Amino acid sequence: MCGIIGYTGKKNITDELVAGLEKLEYRGYDSAGIAYCERGKLVTVKAVGRISELKKLTDGLRPDSSCGIGHTRWATHGKPTLANCHPHLSYGGKFAIVHNGIIENCRQLRLLCESRGISPISDTDSELIAHLLEMYFEGDLRKAADKVAGMLEGSFAVGILCSCRPNEIYAFASRSPLAIGEGRNFCALASDGNALSGAETLVFLKDGESALLRPSGAEYYRKGKRINPQSAPFSAASALSGKDGYAHYMLKETYEQPEAAARTIAALSGIKLRGALSFIGCGSSYHAGLSMLPLACHACSRPAQAQLAGEFLCSERVKSRGTTAVLLSQSGETADTVAAALEAERRACRTFAIVNVASSTLTRVCGAHAVTRAGPEIAVATTKGFTSQVVAVAAMLARGTLAESTERLPFIMEKALEAGVSDEAEEASRLLAISPNAFFIGRKADYGVALEGALKLKEITYIPALGLSAGELKHGSISLIGEGTPVVVVHTDPRLREKTLLTVASVRARGGFVIAVTDDRDVCAACDLAVRIPSSDPFLSPAVSVIPLQLIAYRAAVLLGRDVDKPRNLAKSVTVE
Ligand code: GLU
Repeated sequence: MCGIIGYTGKKNITDELVAGLEKLEYRGYDSAGIAYCERGKLVTVKAVGRISELKKLTDGLRPDSSCGIGHTRWATHGKPTLANCHPHLSYGGKFAIVHNGIIENCRQLRLLCESRGISPISDTDSELIAHLLEMYFEGDLRKAADKVAGMLEGSFAVGILCSCRPNEIYAFASRSPLAIGEGRNFCALASDGNALSGAETLVFLKDGESALLRPSGAEYYRKGKRINPQSAPFSAASALSGKDGYAHYMLKETYEQPEAAARTIAALSGIKLRGALSFIGCGSSYHAGLSMLPLACHACSRPAQAQLAGEFLCSERVKSRGTTAVLLSQSGETADTVAAALEAERRACRTFAIVNVASSTLTRVCGAHAVTRAGPEIAVATTKGFTSQVVAVAAMLARGTLAESTERLPFIMEKALEAGVSDEAEEASRLLAISPNAFFIGRKADYGVALEGALKLKEITYIPALGLSAGELKHGSISLIGEGTPVVVVHTDPRLREKTLLTVASVRARGGFVIAVTDDRDVCAACDLAVRIPSSDPFLSPAVSVIPLQLIAYRAAVLLGRDVDKPRNLAKSVTVE
């Protein structure tokens, strides 16, 4: 999690760093800070809260420096306070560091520092890196950094500034993304290549590699030896292309879904997913895999399962050989999913990543990959990322008439956008916004969508929402249903009509207020409020039925005055396990 940035060149350092951090803000935004070296002394400027808070402090600053590092944090160790905010200084003030990731052996390292009389001033794991650097520094920064990197366990991308080399940045990384960009008279680093505007070439550090950045360019090292990594020409995605008149990125991205789906289907329908399938992901990516299980199992007769990436590591080592582990992650950097990919490789599974970022970690660790064509997704709560994954799986599995239905999906998704702004959908938003809790239920493909609908509502409105298989409700959770409790039922499969009607009746009998998201007239008639969606093949319906749920959650969040694009406690790519 978090974003780190570094720049050495000729421009005003505070402006460069803050502009870079603004592009990385989607990765974490509970506090932010920068460091640079002025007249032989390291200076830090930090603020709790958004980058805009930091900007208030740096606006107008013209330090005598054109080299520095910056960080926007998503706390893992210690609250978002000024003391815990990066960059962290070493005890003697010689080093400033920024860190993305988690140091798993930080307790031992803290004890080591304390045994040498060094008392860390923050609760973070990251600060220890700064102290260790100063502890082992004997005049050669590269040697000290290599030594410290070798002591760290976990995931890390680290940027280092040393007061004795004011125009240089040293960086190393393992299991955390770090891109180095070179341009005319400058060299820069960032957690996401899209933040490196003006760069002409880009290099992604591989695990165990390090780099020394000077305005004239970067030198790369592995195990102390100079290397020449392959650089790629830089083409910045138009990540900050703006909201195009929409009030929020989430709304813009919701409306981009038909187009994103069409691009993805066109790009991926030539690719085949082979063998038994194990869909693995976290959050919405897990839901995408889950919602595609009926397509894989019933329509395509494949043994298939969906697993949470974080649990995959603990599940038993059965039937792995010959299975294709399909790793789903919008960013391609999700730490749990990357760890699951490595574990799947160890278990001799085929690994296949479905990501939205071509140069991401998952594409490097998996045997094969497909890139969805959603385009940059800025809002923290995913919309087009989810539907692009769904249609990607469909495009790679469906054959014959199902393939034809897949091609038609973008048109049906257009109509689903209209359903999402219908009077009934607006009424649903108003109702949910004033409810203390909510339920989302569905079966088979609709189950994954129900979970996703509940997650959307939780993420951006903070209303406790429970997503359940409709059949599970009676096994306990129905005890929570009382007068007026909103229950959103997703129903797209005519074969399940009778079951759905029974569930609806049992919820209403307990006073629950049932909101249907369905194309089925009978189900509509049986509910208190119905959002009528366009019909699609039930195996492909998750790409359609989720859209009104996204818009309902969006509008509820707006009604509640929430920060839709940057909900509290969240960050876009979860790069810690
Ligand atoms: N573990 C570090 C901290 O809590 C870095 C977190 C991050 O990647 O933002 O400060």
